[in-house]
Amino acid sequence: MSKILCVLYDDPVSGYPTLYPRDGIPDIKTYPGGQTLPTPEAIDFKPGQLLGSVSGELGLRNYLESHGHQLVVTSDKDGPNSRLERELPDTDIIISQPFWPAYLTEERFAKAPKLKLAITAGIGSDHVDLQAAIKHGVTVAEVSYSNSISVSEHVVMMILSLVRNYIPSYQWVVNGGWNIADCVTRSYDLEGMNVGTVAAGRIGLAVLRRLKPFDVKLHYTDRHRLSPDIEKELQLTFHPNVESMVKVCDVVTINCPLHPETEHMFDDALIAKMKRGAYIVNTARGKICDKDAIARALKSGQLAGYAGDVWFPQPAPKDHPWRTMPYHGMTPHVSGTSLSAQARYAAGTREILECWFAGKPIREEYLIVDGGHLAGTGAHSYSTGNATKGWEEATRFSAAA
Ligand code: NDP
Repeated sequence: MSKILCVLYDDPVSGYPTLYPRDGIPDIKTYPGGQTLPTPEAIDFKPGQLLGSVSGELGLRNYLESHGHQLVVTSDKDGPNSRLERELPDTDIIISQPFWPAYLTEERFAKAPKLKLAITAGIGSDHVDLQAAIKHGVTVAEVSYSNSISVSEHVVMMILSLVRNYIPSYQWVVNGGWNIADCVTRSYDLEGMNVGTVAAGRIGLAVLRRLKPFDVKLHYTDRHRLSPDIEKELQLTFHPNVESMVKVCDVVTINCPLHPETEHMFDDALIAKMKRGAYIVNTARGKICDKDAIARALKSGQLAGYAGDVWFPQPAPKDHPWRTMPYHGMTPHVSGTSLSAQARYAAGTREILECWFAGKPIREEYLIVDGGHLAGTGAHSYSTGNATKGWEEATRFSAAA
């Protein structure tokens, strides 16, 4: 029997939904490139339901309890007296989500001697101190591809929202106005602009593909180059480093994982190398940008806009500068947790658990750390180290709530 601790975001303030705007979600057969969707033996939820919040329980309770396991679900994750901290000593498996991350630090690993598996229900395991996971022999796995397309759609939405000044224009309407000049003095067409992505992995490439029909000039930088066929098809310009790419771009979208190599990549120095009036859309991880440098650049006019859904830490404290800086289009961390994405990452989490309990290998593409080293996707896209430093700030949100 195992104890599984599942840390999920809170239910809606209006209560767990009983009715949804739509009756289901489309049936997707495979991901681009051919990777199959999660293949658990069964699921105990209806795709399209809210699964990522506490009452949704990722649809896991029946499955786990019918196999004799104990499931504890909580959103109380920050601070020394949190439920998470209290449950750690006898937890075998922890499941968390990037949207409401249970930061797994060296200290927390030390408090969890039985912990053997940390699952990210979603993509991005930077909330886990990977160095500590390696040291403590904990396997880290995530549900690769489950929400990559969801995020790429969000990126395109945010690029268009910033460049066309959508959010302030909407606000004029809500406020009863008809202020066309106020709306359009910051509004441009995307057509003809240079748009570049930092990383062309699953999300970055999907963003490039979706932007192609907008007749923009596409750029990318990555540690590994895409195939000549893809470069030709999308008429991509490859840049060997981020500096050379940002110099020529009007819009930069960030789609690389957060790891020691990418932490604070967008600082004052790099932003100064961008075109004046460039836009940044960052749905990758908040800490890839220096938060104060971004706020400064928006105030000075070096950046014309910044949007994204990722912050550091999460939840962001009420006085986080990105809540109030000018010309931003921030949302809470939602792009990868649409109802459509939830069905996939909940099924993927179950697949990982089924493999684990059956002693079968977890898919390579789901692995980040295994057997005391970076493995699978982790070995390809991450570097060893720890990107969780400063996570304690998250307690300030709960304390102020
Ligand atoms: P992938 O692993 O498919 O792609 C990541 C890409 O980043 C790889 O091509 C990798 O290069 C590249 N990369 C890594 N380090 C660097 C670097 N220093 N400079 C340039 N490129 C680099 O991941 P996904 O596209 O699926 O996801 C990317 C990230 O997006 C996740 O790690 C996560 O942080 C974030 N995300 C956010 C979500 C949200 O809800 N907002 C949801 C899902 C993901 P290579 O492998 O070639 O070495």
